[in-house]
Amino acid sequence: RLSRFYTPTLNREILEQFQLEQALRQAFERDELLLHYQPRVEIDTGRILSLEALVRWNHPDWGLVSPTRFIPIAEATGLILQLGPLVLRLACRQIQQWRAAGVPTVPVAVNLSAGELYQEGLAQQIGDCVASFQITPADLEFEITESAAMRSIDQAVAILSNLRDKGFALSIDDFGTGYASLSYLNRLPMQAIKIDQSFLAEIGNVERHRQSAAIVKAIVGLGATLDLHIIAEGVETQAQRRFLLEHGCQVAQGYLFARPMPADRIEPLLRACYLPFDGADAPG
Ligand code: C2E
Ligand code: MG
Ligand code: MG
Repeated sequence: RLSRFYTPTLNREILEQFQLEQALRQAFERDELLLHYQPRVEIDTGRILSLEALVRWNHPDWGLVSPTRFIPIAEATGLILQLGPLVLRLACRQIQQWRAAGVPTVPVAVNLSAGELYQEGLAQQIGDCVASFQITPADLEFEITESAAMRSIDQAVAILSNLRDKGFALSIDDFGTGYASLSYLNRLPMQAIKIDQSFLAEIGNVERHRQSAAIVKAIVGLGATLDLHIIAEGVETQAQRRFLLEHGCQVAQGYLFARPMPADRIEPLLRACYLPFDGADAPG
């Protein structure tokens, strides 16, 4: 009877997962993990306000493997407890290097996944890491997805408050896709909400525009009421940019402005402080 479920496809998937896991273990030793950075900009001017650090895995045979493929594996296998601290060290080291080179830095946001968030001593670990690179909590931010925070809300409130007390800014990522009730949202010590990119993707879409537009507007309103910054994620078109400006959202991140890039390509942008983007001067 069991064989009914044990299909060749399942076999292949298990094998593939296993191979990815083995390769990911080696990736740490072989130094194959690196960070790209994507600017978050003031929508009307293109001024760079902060950067998001996004991990990349450069495998010798497979090339760049997407984090959407390997983060879930890292989470499932516990490797996230190695990956998280590595990402943090890479981000801290980069800020330190930019500063030493006289580059005007902006805060760098690091993603924390659920597996890291609920780990004993997280705030202490992060604090120690930051201090060891001679940078300050104001140089960093953390992004936690709505669903990770909701997994164990009381614990999340305690841990995040701890980070907040140390001076780190926090934002809630992929907002609108989890199940955050508004009363919970109020308890989380967040400074910003990132509107999930799926809503932005539907702005301007003939069939889905109405609903997503209503959700984006509601989130912007929520931000004003709760005194939270709103960051729109996945902005790709001028129409989306205009929509955001019209509805009072001032900060965005997306391919329209800049893709995630390696540090050496971010450096000149930081020196310029502003992003040259398509339509920066275009009439509203
Ligand atoms: P996220 O934190 O929501 O990051 C935003 C994702 O949207 C990134 O994908 C980014 O490259 C992509 N993106 C940015 N602008 C646009 C746009 O205009 N259009 C579209 N279609 N996509 C855009 P990426 O780098 O593949 O990362 C995917 C997810 O993997 C992240 O989603 C985050 O959940 C996770 N991740 C990435 N780096 C890390 C990390 O260092 N640690 C942890 N725990 N998770 C990470
Ligand atoms: Mg993020
Ligand atoms: Mg997101």
